[in-house]
Amino acid sequence: MRLAETVTFGGAGLDRAAGLRGDPEAVAAHLCAGETRILPVWRGKPLFAGNAAGWLPPGHAVLAEAAEAPVLLGLEGGAARFAVDVSGWEPPAGEAPAEGVFFDPTEQRHPALPGDHRFAELRGLMAELAAGDAELVATAKALLGWHRSHRFCSACGRPSAVIEAGWQRRCPDCGTRHFPRTDPVVIMLVTRGERTLLGRSPGWPEGMYSCLAGFMEPGETIEAAVRREVAEETGVRIGRVSYLASQPWPYPSSLMIGCLAEAESEAITLDPVELEAAVWIGREEAARVLAGDHPTIRRPRRGAIAGFLLTHWVADRLD
Ligand SMILES: [Zn+2]
Repeated sequence: MRLAETVTFGGAGLDRAAGLRGDPEAVAAHLCAGETRILPVWRGKPLFAGNAAGWLPPGHAVLAEAAEAPVLLGLEGGAARFAVDVSGWEPPAGEAPAEGVFFDPTEQRHPALPGDHRFAELRGLMAELAAGDAELVATAKALLGWHRSHRFCSACGRPSAVIEAGWQRRCPDCGTRHFPRTDPVVIMLVTRGERTLLGRSPGWPEGMYSCLAGFMEPGETIEAAVRREVAEETGVRIGRVSYLASQPWPYPSSLMIGCLAEAESEAITLDPVELEAAVWIGREEAARVLAGDHPTIRRPRRGAIAGFLLTHWVADRLD
């Protein structure tokens, strides 16, 4: 797909500077250089300044909340970009985050920052970010989230330590190295002639439908995962599968693999655990969904690959 990399988080050619990671002195020099910028992330929420990423200069008071060294994201025009976890900070009274919800609408403001700076859910602002910031923020959120949930060695259970400027953890006890994980998910634009298949999971906001999707399993090809997920959730049989586009999806650490899946059957048999409803809709009906003009199906959230695939299918731009 020619437009594949125009998806949100599609990347902007960030120089990830992998050669620097194993050089602690060079990393330390970049960490205090005047042109360096550091992005704080608080309990999974990046800092925003207006609708842009909230980059701070080295030495800023907010960065003193960090418990571990910043991770090196890469270089932009020779200037280093880092991210740091400041989850230890306690927000002011009345700004507590919402727990256990799909989307936390609350925002937290640090007293040392201007009024337009706040920690906020990336889901709500991801489509506003410029491509360069989007890649950096997605990388920061996924990498710091991995560190927060992988503090202990999975081989021996002892605490592990950050090495390689944040791109590995190593167990001081048994020497095992651990690498940041990325979990592949297939997401399918299922088509049958001029119609496509959308589904909704139990518990989703009213009117929300999306392309079918599911985690890949060990030992499975992308094609096999697409066929299995569609068959499990709807009973629809898939023939030819082709790759369209991918999207890093840092909630917490997925890679969405967008595919075109050509259906060979139409009858729907729902798996009620996975899906509450599934419908075939035509191109014109899909255009109404995208325009926010459909009576029962709401417009997809901006930034997610499902809406991106649907938009380009309606416009006949999947080539
Ligand atoms: Zn170990």
